[in-house]
Amino acid sequence: MRLDKYLAESYVGSRKEVRNLIIDGLISVNGELVYDPAIEITVKVDQIRYKDEVIVYPGKRYIMFNKPAGCITAKIDEKHKTVMDYFTKEDSKGLFPVGRLDKDTEGLLLLTNDGEFDHQLMHPNHHVSKKYFFWCLGTITEDKKTLLENGISIGEDDNTTCPAKIEIIRSGRYEELEEQIPSYTYDSKNMKNNTYLQMVTSGYITITEGKKHQVKRMLKAIGCYVIYLKRFQIGELELDEKLQPGDYRVLTRKEVENIT
Ligand code: URA
Repeated sequence: MRLDKYLAESYVGSRKEVRNLIIDGLISVNGELVYDPAIEITVKVDQIRYKDEVIVYPGKRYIMFNKPAGCITAKIDEKHKTVMDYFTKEDSKGLFPVGRLDKDTEGLLLLTNDGEFDHQLMHPNHHVSKKYFFWCLGTITEDKKTLLENGISIGEDDNTTCPAKIEIIRSGRYEELEEQIPSYTYDSKNMKNNTYLQMVTSGYITITEGKKHQVKRMLKAIGCYVIYLKRFQIGELELDEKLQPGDYRVLTRKEVENIT
């Protein structure tokens, strides 16, 4: 296996980052500094060190991605841009998204090649929490907040949702708060025409399930319409604020261990 691949797949960094580490003389193979990212090493035979730390090859990869609006959560799609289009070919190899965010939703998306990790986070019985920031049209009264917090029917054959946590941040007339709304990602022309003088509300919602369009459907069930949605947190893991939309980084071993 190439040395840069070994390091990238051992949580050390992206391919680009680990290549720089090698070129900068921070990586040794069997005690000798090496400067060529392409040299071949043998897993479990050669000893690789980054500075003084022995790098053990896990074979599993865990990536944090700051998903921008406008791409779909899929591995490939003939028509639409996918989250994979933000990865280099080398970094994307074997990866798949853990769960999904809607095309117009932004924020924390994990990718992995580890089916067990995916199962751990996504299985409905495991109830891993997911925290979102939202802007919606409408007002969330105390009664409506209680409905969301206790569980609400969101239509079709679904049962009511599990209890959720809601924190209202701001509420007021659209024309007063317009500048704070990150930008309409939802049918912007129509929204602009319809929202004049309407009330808008922003807040955090934390859910422990992953039904299709769940946040939008929960807010719709209380008469509100989501116009901006960003995921900030999954379990204990928060989106790294240093990641610009479209950027990604390898999770640290501690982050992987602590997420659930
Ligand atoms: N809920 C939604 O409605 N959309 C998402 O993308 C995620 C959660």
